[in-house]
Amino acid sequence: MKPTDIGVPEYFHKVVDCQWACPAHTPVPEYIRLIAAGRYDDAYMVNWHSNVFPGILGRTCDRPCEPACRRGRVEENNGEKPEPVAICRLKRVAADNKGDVKARMPKAAAKKNGKRIACIGAGPASLTVARDLAPLGYHVTVFDQDPRAGGMIWSQIPRFRLPMEVIDEEVGYILDLGVEFKGGTKIGSMKKLLAEDYDAIFVGSGAPRGRDLDIPGRKEAAKNIHIGIDWLSSVSFGHTDRIGKRVIVLGGGNTAMDCCRSSKRLGGEDVKVIVRSGFEEMKASPWEKEDAQHEGIPILNYLVPKTFEHENGKLTGMTFEKVKAVRDEKGRRSLLPTGEPDQRFECDDVLVAVGQENAFPWIERDAGIQFDQHGMPVVDMVTMQSTQAKVFFGGDSAFGPKNIIWAVAHGHDAAISIDKLLNGEDLKERPSPIVNLSSQKMGIHEWSYDNAISPDERYKVPWKDKTITLKNIKVEVELGFDPATGFKEAQRCLNCDVQTVFADRLCIECDACVDICPMDCISFTRNGEEADLRGRLNAPARNPTQDLYVSGELKTGRVMVKDEDVCLHCGLCAERCPTGAWDMQKFLLDLTHAGHGCRTPQRKAA
Ligand SMILES: Cc1cc2nc3c(=O)[nH]c(=O)nc-3n(C[C@H](O)[C@H](O)[C@H](O)COP(=O)(O)OP(=O)(O)OC[C@H]3O[C@@H](n4cnc5c(N)ncnc54)[C@H](O)[C@@H]3O)c2cc1C
Ligand code: SF4
Ligand code: SF4
Repeated sequence: MKPTDIGVPEYFHKVVDCQWACPAHTPVPEYIRLIAAGRYDDAYMVNWHSNVFPGILGRTCDRPCEPACRRGRVEENNGEKPEPVAICRLKRVAADNKGDVKARMPKAAAKKNGKRIACIGAGPASLTVARDLAPLGYHVTVFDQDPRAGGMIWSQIPRFRLPMEVIDEEVGYILDLGVEFKGGTKIGSMKKLLAEDYDAIFVGSGAPRGRDLDIPGRKEAAKNIHIGIDWLSSVSFGHTDRIGKRVIVLGGGNTAMDCCRSSKRLGGEDVKVIVRSGFEEMKASPWEKEDAQHEGIPILNYLVPKTFEHENGKLTGMTFEKVKAVRDEKGRRSLLPTGEPDQRFECDDVLVAVGQENAFPWIERDAGIQFDQHGMPVVDMVTMQSTQAKVFFGGDSAFGPKNIIWAVAHGHDAAISIDKLLNGEDLKERPSPIVNLSSQKMGIHEWSYDNAISPDERYKVPWKDKTITLKNIKVEVELGFDPATGFKEAQRCLNCDVQTVFADRLCIECDACVDICPMDCISFTRNGEEADLRGRLNAPARNPTQDLYVSGELKTGRVMVKDEDVCLHCGLCAERCPTGAWDMQKFLLDLTHAGHGCRTPQRKAA
């Protein structure tokens, strides 16, 4: 293998598993250390800079970082119950315990630059575009048909998961940047909007249509059959505050979980979730299923809806066919009837939460924006630009329903593109991240980070007593970690951003690092092709998604090969090395957002 070029930002970025997996590339271990140090304001600002909504995401993020977390991998090898660091809920510790951070927020631009941007929809994607562009002097107007800004963050996510004050605070930081918000304004025509001569338009209108279920009885019993997302927004708007005693929720995703838990709080006594697929295959996150079950809501699997039954226009029940999952020789799964008798459940109301679709009735098909055969706009995945040069898409409207953190990531990318477009630059030339690598050495056995490995298992976020939470839909269920537990959970982080950096020229091949490494990560061996090398290291490197760090040729003709996969970043190799060939260096990577840093001439001059 060729010697590893650690100067390429992606190399060490990939070692920081959580940051690599986060769509907004939040510097996770950096903020976790700040939380451990009690520096909550700083931890909050690190988050705010990259993911814009730390308090909201600290309660609701889909957490793509956690399955990637090294702690889970390392515990898988060593412990009974492998669990990643509670990255998401630690974010909330920073948000809950910070002081007043208003003074640290960017200021509204003193002078506008004369360019006008329209954002359609006030969800997290548009709000991110507004946050990135308003301080640069752009006049950003955000339109939403709803009276409040926040999009599905406030219209769909129930208050028992996300209190209104948290939304108001974080949406407020953005609107305070001089962003113009026009609530209660539905945009009915893209052509008309284009005629208003905005310099750029960002479409962040989400995926607003819930799928229906067209089976016998649907029309006749319509009064008691509700589309899940419409029903949830009606609850958020305060238009709905009751539901029947016996409720069936159809669907296995997070919307179904919010529907059933909301029903329990609005008069539902016998609430059940019924799903076509098996429990493990359900789209809902494991923690959402756990929360619903904790509230006494049964989840029934492998039941396919057949009919809605009704009497005199009133829903009386539903019948389901029992199915089982069968795999063909290619491993493809299908659901086949078991042949057992159908199952019937009585009910007063049904909430249909079987998926979401995009809908753009307000974008005329001759407005210069190309749509594909599925009715989705053709959008460049890097620049977020549509086929009409000044129209950009992001969040759920771009590629279908995802989540908040993806909406934020798209918003940052679109803001960069808009800023470049309006400065006459090539949108395809994307800005490099800002990277810093600095030694953490303070003494022979002393580092500026805490390198002891905590043996603790993941701490559980406490819940408020359900006799209280089930009575009031606005009472938040999760209490969040207190600072002491937050500290202990933060200590579980392995500081994957503190990198093992190897200097070939200092190595005397004494093997001291090989002997001390608790994970057998390091080998000195003759070079070879990657597949061959992986098989003959001291501990075979079996995870091909993690790189091998290979040195140049050493004096004996061998090379140093380190498997990045299960390194604990404990620094013992660097402590033991007699010549300082190993050093522990902190790698800090921040994405470049819209502004001077992302413009090409600026970077070429630097
Ligand atoms: C029940 C439910 C629970 C969810 N829970 C989570 C969760 O816990 N964590 C998570 O990460 N994600 C969750 N999601 C997904 C998340 O809410 C979305 O992925 C995210 O909000 C998408 O952001 P966005 O900016 O694309 O648009 P949205 O948040 O969908 O906002 C779009 C806005 O555009 C407005 N709009 C649409 N058309 C027009 C128009 N023509 N004129 C004016 N305004 C218009 C809409 O009113 C809406 O306010 C959930 C979704 C649902 C349905
Ligand atoms: S151990 Fe810490 S730095 Fe490493 S992946 Fe997990 S949260 Fe990120
Ligand atoms: S930091 Fe060094 S000693 Fe510790 S696990 Fe990683 S390679 Fe081994």
